[in-house]
Amino acid sequence: MKITGVQSVYPRYRVAPAAWRRHFWQMVVRIDTDIGVSGWGAGGGGIAAVEVINRHLRELLVGRSINSVEDVARLWDDQYKASLPYGRSGIAVMAISGVDLALWDVLGRAEGKSVCDLLGGRQRDEVRAYATGPDSTWYRDLGFNAHKSSQTRQGSQAADAARILEWAEGAHQTLGEDALLMIDAYMSWSPDFAVAVAQQLAPFNIYWFEDVLLPDDLDGLAALRPQIHPILLAGGEHEFTVRDFGHIASVRALDLWQPDVTWCGGLTATLRIAKLAQAHRIPVVPHRGGEIWGLHFLAAGYGDNLAEMVMGRRDAVRDKLWLGEPQPQEGHLVLPEGPGFGVEVNEELL
Ligand SMILES: [Mg+2]
Repeated sequence: MKITGVQSVYPRYRVAPAAWRRHFWQMVVRIDTDIGVSGWGAGGGGIAAVEVINRHLRELLVGRSINSVEDVARLWDDQYKASLPYGRSGIAVMAISGVDLALWDVLGRAEGKSVCDLLGGRQRDEVRAYATGPDSTWYRDLGFNAHKSSQTRQGSQAADAARILEWAEGAHQTLGEDALLMIDAYMSWSPDFAVAVAQQLAPFNIYWFEDVLLPDDLDGLAALRPQIHPILLAGGEHEFTVRDFGHIASVRALDLWQPDVTWCGGLTATLRIAKLAQAHRIPVVPHRGGEIWGLHFLAAGYGDNLAEMVMGRRDAVRDKLWLGEPQPQEGHLVLPEGPGFGVEVNEELL
């Protein structure tokens, strides 16, 4: 089949996602083909990425053939090269991510297969999910026993450390001694603070510290990594393509990689990152991996059996952009039936 149309749209969100600039949030890509099959994908980069797709990538894609996974990879390489003078990372790669995911969706729908099937088939009937947010009581009620909290620096070292300790005690009590607990520092900690907090948290078996330093500080991360052991140093949501992860691997900056499928270059880039991770024996837990785009990757047996669900608070109001996305049941996610990614876009928001 041949691509006949490429269109990116920035949704008319009714609820602006907390803590993100509205113009930077997720956009939607639609790809049409000459056999009447259309596919959908999501990417980051907001209205800037929409412009990259509609004013540049589209002209490379219309008229091109897409009949195999190899074709999707070839189109990825072509988009990367064409956008290289202004791209290689950031918004350009977030745009490519949305196109890439829409191409996987088209291919799956055309062949009557799920994306998971295109990746070799289901290896995990259900994927363990972890809940990100501040509401551990709600996560317990939903059946989660894995939880990540954001603990950014706010005041004095002593006050921040006390707050984190209080969270760990509370989460242990609420979710149980065996609960998997993680902390996201969102680039706000110093190495000294991370080491001090790691020591104080020793009784709580924290699984990882995420995004501790600025992602540019690979040497700092590499130096910190052994100092917080056995807590793992995690990161990667602000990295793009296998090239960035190659730099991380070469200085051994992180124990656990968290590429975002909708930002790092789509499923094609995530597969290349996973291959590199396997060669270095590094676990991969995709950023927001419980969203449908990462869930097919995880269900196909790639990465660790752990999917992030950004749950937020019990009473929060949310836009539902993708219809048919699975909700966690007893802390686990099951892939939906249906070809492609198995979801439909909510046209009301377009
Ligand atoms: Mg994070």
